Amino acid sequence: MSNKYKILIVEDEENILKFVTALFEANGYQALTANTAELGLLMFTSHMPDLIILDLGLPDFDGIQFIKAIRKDFLTPIIVLSARSGESDKVEALDTGANDYVTKPFGSAELLARVRTILRSSRHSCEEGKFPGGKFTSGCMVIDYDSRRIYLDDAEIKLTQTEFNILALLSEHCGKVLTYSAIIKEIWGYSDSGSIKKLQVNMANIRRKLMLKPGENKYISNELGIGYKMKNEND
Ligand code: CA
Repeated sequence: MSNKYKILIVEDEENILKFVTALFEANGYQALTANTAELGLLMFTSHMPDLIILDLGLPDFDGIQFIKAIRKDFLTPIIVLSARSGESDKVEALDTGANDYVTKPFGSAELLARVRTILRSSRHSCEEGKFPGGKFTSGCMVIDYDSRRIYLDDAEIKLTQTEFNILALLSEHCGKVLTYSAIIKEIWGYSDSGSIKKLQVNMANIRRKLMLKPGENKYISNELGIGYKMKNEND
């Protein structure tokens, strides 16, 4: 039992709570449940789950407050599962510290896939991701943080400093959607009216150099209107 990943599900809608619990248990996870934010925090501190599935509309306090409370001390991955589908809701949850966002109604396969991606990348970053001299590998792409070089099938890809910084930043947060404003703040330190355009131009150049076709989601997925996410292509 102890080798199972523990997933904490914080959700007040009983049907969804039951459904998600059954889904995770059927797929080899241990599911813990809470139907209020307060109980969720209590369950979190007593069980230290590997990942949290979080509804935003909770009866006692908002899911955004829940994310803030966790992020004060912990990096435990959080996937928001919410009926709020507006871009501003997604951006707020992601900028507060959620790793990913799934909109209700959702597909079981999609939710499971996102959970697997995040668990894999959090394990990855613990092992090697951010150490100096470390390398990040996804499919045929290798990022060497120390020499600041990127290879595709062992051939070096020539990137500008900014392009490298963007790709390195996304890889350090592999599996997490980084919003446009979070990337802009990290790369340029400030934002102005042209920032998003500047980011999009850099991203288009990165995609071209990685030989990605328009619309192809390999390595980097574009969450339209929200931000970008590095994907792990290792399996
Ligand atoms: Ca709710």
